Amino acid sequence: MIIVMSPSATEENLARVQERVAQAGLRVHLSTGEDRTIVGVIGDKKKIANLEMNMMEGVEKTVRITEKYKLVSRDFQPEGTIVDVGGVKIGGDHIVIMAGPCAVESMEQLREAAKCVKEGGAEFLRGGAFKPRTSPYDFQGLAQKGLEMLRTAADEQGLKVVTEVVDHDDIEIIGKYADVFQVGARNMQNFQLLKALGRERKPVLLKRGLSATISEWLNAAEYILSGGNENVILCERGIRTYETFTRNTLDLSAVAAVKELSHLPVIVDPSHGTGRWQMVRPMARAAVAAGADGLIVEVHPHPEAALSDGDQSLTPKNFNRLMEEISGIAKVMGKTV
Ligand code: PEP
Ligand code: MN
Repeated sequence: MIIVMSPSATEENLARVQERVAQAGLRVHLSTGEDRTIVGVIGDKKKIANLEMNMMEGVEKTVRITEKYKLVSRDFQPEGTIVDVGGVKIGGDHIVIMAGPCAVESMEQLREAAKCVKEGGAEFLRGGAFKPRTSPYDFQGLAQKGLEMLRTAADEQGLKVVTEVVDHDDIEIIGKYADVFQVGARNMQNFQLLKALGRERKPVLLKRGLSATISEWLNAAEYILSGGNENVILCERGIRTYETFTRNTLDLSAVAAVKELSHLPVIVDPSHGTGRWQMVRPMARAAVAAGADGLIVEVHPHPEAALSDGDQSLTPKNFNRLMEEISGIAKVMGKTV
């Protein structure tokens, strides 16, 4: 349930409302907008059903929320969330670019990648040190050594680091090196991992599961927020359909849907979304035009030699072209890259 306070409600009215919610054994989530305060009520369904708030002074109306997710809902918080990663803002009028190789392979590879993505205008270096590979015989990542390389290469260029966490036992070590934890598509419903990340304060980039509905994806985000970590960025990375030409079907309509349903920022991964480098630039352009708050793109100095996802990795030259193209589209959208 949300309780919409009237614009003329006093501090005292609000305090009374909060008091009554607490007395009913329920939790409050406050959203203070420009002219209205919204009191979100969270907790036991039966207790919420019995809560009668309409007659209280200062209350304009109450709205029952039928969706299971609450904290991520735009009903709970009409204003868009801006996640601040050490001064880099994700959400609002800014398009954030995260770029780099699929996997960290060597210091040399990463230095080259970091330099080129920085020159192109990226603010984050991406790269997997723990790789969730479909086959156990494929390159599994350099683990801690990879994290060290990521941090070093990123610091040399003044970039932030986003990297995937596949196991909750690795949260501590990854937290020492990364600025943002990435939860991969395969782990979107790993609820133990989501709960553990809810106890962290570092931002989480939550990718959409391979066959997750938008509602399942938002409920996964709710796990993190309900644990106390409100710094969540959603990432559309394509879903499984019957199409085989592309690796996945990039669901750009999910960007518009998420913007309607949630206040969380949403970025797009056109690399995993298509699996083909030729399609990355067109889909990146479309993502920005659809209202995405940013992109995460695979860039490799030598895609033909990549240990992972070379087919969908951009060369530095093509990454530069992408950046030029999207800055034009961003301008039309009233945003800056
Ligand atoms: C990745 O970003 O390298 C990755 C494995 O992505 P996803 O979880 O979307 O497949
Ligand atoms: Mn990849």
